[in-house]
Amino acid sequence: MRLSKYYSFTLKENPSDAYLVSHKLMLRAGMIKQATSGIYTWLPLGLKVLNKIKDLIRIAHIKNDVYEILMPTIQPSDIWIKSGRYDDYGKEMLKISDRNDNELLYGPTNEEMITDLVSNDIKSYKDLPKLLFHVQWKFRDEIRPRFGVMRCREFLMKDAYSFDLDYENSYYSYCKMFILYMKIFKLLGLKIIPVKAASGPIGGALSHEFILETSSGETQIFYDKRVFDHDVSNVNLTNKTDAIVATENILSLYSRTSEKHDLSVFKNTVESQNQIISNGIEVGHIFYFGTKYSEAFNANYINNKGSKELIHSGSYGIGVSRLVAAIIEANNDDRGIKWPKKVTPYDIGLINVRSDNDTCNCFSENFYKKFSKKYEVIYDDRNVRVGDKFHNMDLLGIPLQIIVGEKNLLNSNIEIKERVTGKSELININKVESYLEYKCEF
Ligand code: ATP
Ligand code: MG
Repeated sequence: MRLSKYYSFTLKENPSDAYLVSHKLMLRAGMIKQATSGIYTWLPLGLKVLNKIKDLIRIAHIKNDVYEILMPTIQPSDIWIKSGRYDDYGKEMLKISDRNDNELLYGPTNEEMITDLVSNDIKSYKDLPKLLFHVQWKFRDEIRPRFGVMRCREFLMKDAYSFDLDYENSYYSYCKMFILYMKIFKLLGLKIIPVKAASGPIGGALSHEFILETSSGETQIFYDKRVFDHDVSNVNLTNKTDAIVATENILSLYSRTSEKHDLSVFKNTVESQNQIISNGIEVGHIFYFGTKYSEAFNANYINNKGSKELIHSGSYGIGVSRLVAAIIEANNDDRGIKWPKKVTPYDIGLINVRSDNDTCNCFSENFYKKFSKKYEVIYDDRNVRVGDKFHNMDLLGIPLQIIVGEKNLLNSNIEIKERVTGKSELININKVESYLEYKCEF
């Protein structure tokens, strides 16, 4: 991508109305623009990151037999009246009526709609288990939308739903999703603390939140730091015992938000050197709610003895748009964003220091053409001050920066800077290809 053609409008100064670093940086890097309170337009750079995160999450689900559907944003009110949540959900639900005075709403979540769907399709115990997900925009009329896309009104959520024969099978689905979430967050380069949670208006018995530790987080957390010692990468999710044991191992370590914190367990024990008190942001939340929705929607199946049973279900949410901000919150410095390689909008930033110099121009053009085939390259070909190019590339947070200058080229070198460490190296132009291969290996 050539920056001269891109839709990229960055800000030099911090916007005065933003409080969180991630919000300031998303505005400054030109990733989002507020349309009205808590509602945002995603600009090319922001959308690119959002789509990368979304696709990583989608693929991880599909690989594990959780299949993708797409339910609408607008829902009829009758299914919410049926579940009893139409009034319970309160003012966060945006209610709309159409030209025929039918009551509709902009979906804040989809338990009703999906239970209604499967209640028509699932007939026999042979049809279960089933796991489905979608990635769709949600609307919640938050009382105080704030912090940019971290707490907004319209946001992108990945929500998955499990349907099982009974508690035992549902528990396996729950553990499978629990470990899948830990794997996804690891892929995204995030250190996540799963904590026991109250399940709130969704109802049900078993629930955990996934918290990203950051000093600016709204949630206070108390956790045992050995939670980070658990490596879930090799847990085989198709194996029931493996999924359950891995989940229970992680959950055997103490972790709570302030809402559920038990002072007597956490403080003054022999383990106190592992006990951390900190803050975090909720990026995911999972629930097992048994037959709550199946009862309302008559979602049942015929068991192997010929009698009717209610389906057991759970729901599993990740705040996809919130993750963009959360990742920035955990990866930035005073120069700007420092994208982890997995979610970076571009792998390589190409800076032509001398756009008035034929040698530099020619090298940069060739580099761009060659390496764009293999990597995502953002080429600053604009005719602006070189200092601005450096500042801009750091603000955008591109992991590897190729700096093309005349003096170095005469010695067959180019400078390559890593955004995360800030360190630069001179690399011989004949070795650039293998160097990039090594550095961009994910
Ligand atoms: P919170 O406690 O932060 O208000 P929640 O518990 O109401 O969130 P869930 O119903 O658990 O949210 O939704 C699943 C995920 O969707 C959350 O973990 C979060 O990442 C994301 N999410 C929820 N509300 C918002 C919001 N207003 N803006 C952005 N993301 C949100
Ligand atoms: Mg939640």
